[in-house]
Amino acid sequence: MVILAECACFSETNETYAWILKAMQEMEPRFKVCNITMMFSDEGVTVGLLQKLGIKDSCMLCADEWHMMNEVWPDKFGGYWQHVVNYLRTYIHHPDTVTCNESLQKALDNPGIRANPEMVEEIYRVHGAAKRYAGYTRAGRDGNLGVHGSTLAEVNHSSIVAHLGLGSCQRLEDQFQKLLERAQEFAKKVRERNDLFRLELDRFESQETTQVAREVDKFAKSYFAVLPYGWFRSETDSAKKLKCIPFNGGNIVCRKHLQIDPEDPMEVMNRCKEAVFIKKGDRCRCLERVRRLIQCSHDLALNGFVLHHWDKRWISDVYHQDVLGLP
Ligand SMILES: [Zn+2]
Repeated sequence: MVILAECACFSETNETYAWILKAMQEMEPRFKVCNITMMFSDEGVTVGLLQKLGIKDSCMLCADEWHMMNEVWPDKFGGYWQHVVNYLRTYIHHPDTVTCNESLQKALDNPGIRANPEMVEEIYRVHGAAKRYAGYTRAGRDGNLGVHGSTLAEVNHSSIVAHLGLGSCQRLEDQFQKLLERAQEFAKKVRERNDLFRLELDRFESQETTQVAREVDKFAKSYFAVLPYGWFRSETDSAKKLKCIPFNGGNIVCRKHLQIDPEDPMEVMNRCKEAVFIKKGDRCRCLERVRRLIQCSHDLALNGFVLHHWDKRWISDVYHQDVLGLP
């Protein structure tokens, strides 16, 4: 995940956001608005923005957890907030459908809430807009990264405030100058980090024991950025502890030491969280793979390393520049 845009914004409306996103696409044609599949926002941004961008059906507008839990809902529930805070936190956070719905039911069962029609209406509204608020809807979306809001954008915002100084009240051109200096400093840091990465690649020696595994490891080290390479390593190591059992047009992938009941092979999935069934031609639906669009340990155990099973977003800057020749 990276920051795509910074702007000096004088009116925060759907029109402004639509204009910024379209301008980004014009400036960098490799960025496509139609590829945006999730957006986080407080209640200010509405589905009207998705309509303006023509991505209403392909993009999910999700409620930003921090804004909902710290600003929007506390305001809305007022004195009743303490009655529902934990239930709403579970609803917006939890990846499981049953847990989310039970939690909202508990909020409704609270006598204080039940006695207040406005509160009951708000709970029903939230339930009716599960696609926007419920944790389970995000958890099922490919490439969701397990995030619950626009944390990175907020961190960037705080960093800008820290850079300009609290209560900064300067001329507009001074603000632009300071922000450009900040961007320049960032670009310098990225260059330094990439140069260090190149040195590290030169010295890299794989600890794998077979020639094939060493080749794959070396390629992965050069291809992935630092974080995804870490995932590649941990998933590869976990995959070594797994076995694949062909069953019913697919495979059960589970820990090597687990006993499989020949009468009921799928029973192992009830016993062990790490056992999954992958139908032939399908990808694993475990949380790790869905979140990051990578090869999870199950996928690696079943198929070995498959490059196109990894999302392109995980390619390192250095591979982009040195191998693909992109700026
Ligand atoms: Zn998996």
